[in-house]
Amino acid sequence: MDRLYYDNPSLLEFDATVTGVEDLGEQALVTLNRSAFYPTSGGQNSDTGLIYGIANGARVRVLDVQEQEQSGEVQHLVECPPGWLRPGVPVRGEVDAERRRDHMQQHSGQHVLSAAFERLYNFATLSFHMGDDYCSIDLATDKITPQQLEAAERLANEVVTEDRRVEIRYATPDQAQTMGVRKIPPAVREKLRLIDIRDFDLNACGGTHVASTGQIGAILLRKTEKVKQGVRVEFVCGLRAVATARKDFQALTEAASVYSAHVWEVPQQARKSIDEIKAGQKAQQRLLEEVAELQAANFLRVASERPSGSGQKLVTEFFADRDLGFIKLLAQKIVRLDNAVALLACGGTQPSLVFAQTAGLPNDMGALMKETLQKLGTRGGGNRDMAQGGAPDSTRAEHAIQEAAGKIG
Ligand SMILES: [Zn+2]
Repeated sequence: MDRLYYDNPSLLEFDATVTGVEDLGEQALVTLNRSAFYPTSGGQNSDTGLIYGIANGARVRVLDVQEQEQSGEVQHLVECPPGWLRPGVPVRGEVDAERRRDHMQQHSGQHVLSAAFERLYNFATLSFHMGDDYCSIDLATDKITPQQLEAAERLANEVVTEDRRVEIRYATPDQAQTMGVRKIPPAVREKLRLIDIRDFDLNACGGTHVASTGQIGAILLRKTEKVKQGVRVEFVCGLRAVATARKDFQALTEAASVYSAHVWEVPQQARKSIDEIKAGQKAQQRLLEEVAELQAANFLRVASERPSGSGQKLVTEFFADRDLGFIKLLAQKIVRLDNAVALLACGGTQPSLVFAQTAGLPNDMGALMKETLQKLGTRGGGNRDMAQGGAPDSTRAEHAIQEAAGKIG
């Protein structure tokens, strides 16, 4: 089979003859005697497009292109196998131009970027991944500084603006050794296909590439991440870089309008907001402490001593609009201010119960809570002096503390 993309990566339309059709039901695998469709390999994603019947003008969509592992045959996955697609039929293939251009921009950009990291810092590229929204390379290094990223991005984009020619050359592995090829694949082949970015990079690769570096458009580095084999650098090239920058700008503009600020002031404004929220939370906590302290004193003033002779007072209160945090705080204040048992409940989004007693009193709050929760069918727990749990709703929370109060001597 003739791989037309090998020597002519800009060829997007070609004539061929069907050599095989494997019916998969809804889809079919089609092989041709020659093809310009690039199969997924070497980090680059496959082309998509159309196959036309020359005799009848009918067409099928090419959804995916894969290389058969053993035979190396290029298989075109097409939708709903039509009857006319049979071995011997002459067809015309049409590669989706936009998708191919995008892949060429990403893949050629990757060669330039990998070479830039290698030249500047001797960081070898261990792998290349092409995703739907961004691409990444894994570099053989423990860490990369922001300055190194910026310098590599700068050099890579200089190479783009210099519009250097990108040529395809062939060499034996032995010849390649003497030519300074960046990375020679371990698989022994008679002939290596080399991508030569003039006076900048020479690397063995079977992918489709731009004719000159200017066609890459732009190389934009994104996130970095520590991975097992080194550092992963995400990047986007060409029109993807433009689309990504546009998306970033829209998000920043939206954030800036929330703050009524310029986009460049967003980080400063966001930090300021977080500081203000933290200060507000601190002030609220101080006020809650004060409220709890005052309420604890008030509840104890009106509570009378229980008849059991232990001198304990009982406070049983339900708070429709408070949360678990507050009733815990209040319970702590009550049992510290006096010899007391506090059976508190709250409603709100998470109805809860808190049982507490002053250390040394004879009741068992943990056991009382356990008994209560069993009836409610909810979860919780605690120790002799302090326990908490959930309630299915406000009404049952309120009812539960009344029932528990009956068990305090
Ligand atoms: Zn490559």
